[in-house]
Amino acid sequence: MIRSSFQPKMLKPKKCRMCPTVFVPQRSMQFACSPACAQAWSAKQRAQKEARAKREERKSFKERAEKIKTRAEHLGELQDAVNAYVRLRDINDPCISCDKPATWQGQWHASHFKSVGHAPALRFNLLNIHKACSVCNKWKSGNYVGYKPRLEKKIGKEAVDWLEGPAGNEPLKITVAEIKELKKFYRAEVRRMKKAFVNQPEEETA
Ligand SMILES: [Zn+2]
Ligand SMILES: [Zn+2]
Repeated sequence: MIRSSFQPKMLKPKKCRMCPTVFVPQRSMQFACSPACAQAWSAKQRAQKEARAKREERKSFKERAEKIKTRAEHLGELQDAVNAYVRLRDINDPCISCDKPATWQGQWHASHFKSVGHAPALRFNLLNIHKACSVCNKWKSGNYVGYKPRLEKKIGKEAVDWLEGPAGNEPLKITVAEIKELKKFYRAEVRRMKKAFVNQPEEETA
């Protein structure tokens, strides 16, 4: 390279940001060894910026969606979490309403003894929810006739009498903040139990 009589000071060699080449920059701002590397570097920067923007967008979408969730949606999510908890809690039990053993290969549900409609206050009461086969839960409405004697054996007659009494008739008194707290609690419990039974695949939500 031909230089004028004015010879600028040589800059210190540096490593190209795009490839392993060490080069002597012509300008102090030069960060790549060649125009090709400079171009590749800007393209990479652009792609990273776009990915960052997309991530931010997704995050704010999720936050907005969380904010506009209704109480009913929160309740539904809590129910899913509680049901998953119950299915894992009872993983080694047979169906609460019939004699299908824990080894039965069909779908397992979490079945309410007193239905949510009949006993809203017992919707998330763990005494009131037990693992049942999908046949009993879905096609026999919980199979009350089979459920009751097995439940008495499991939690005692007194507890069943209490469930059948007026306890559940009240409306469910629970705030959205409390629902969120419970959701967090049961989801964490489910994760903990799944880890404990690593070989148990996740079952369908009832
Ligand atoms: Zn380079
Ligand atoms: Zn059953």
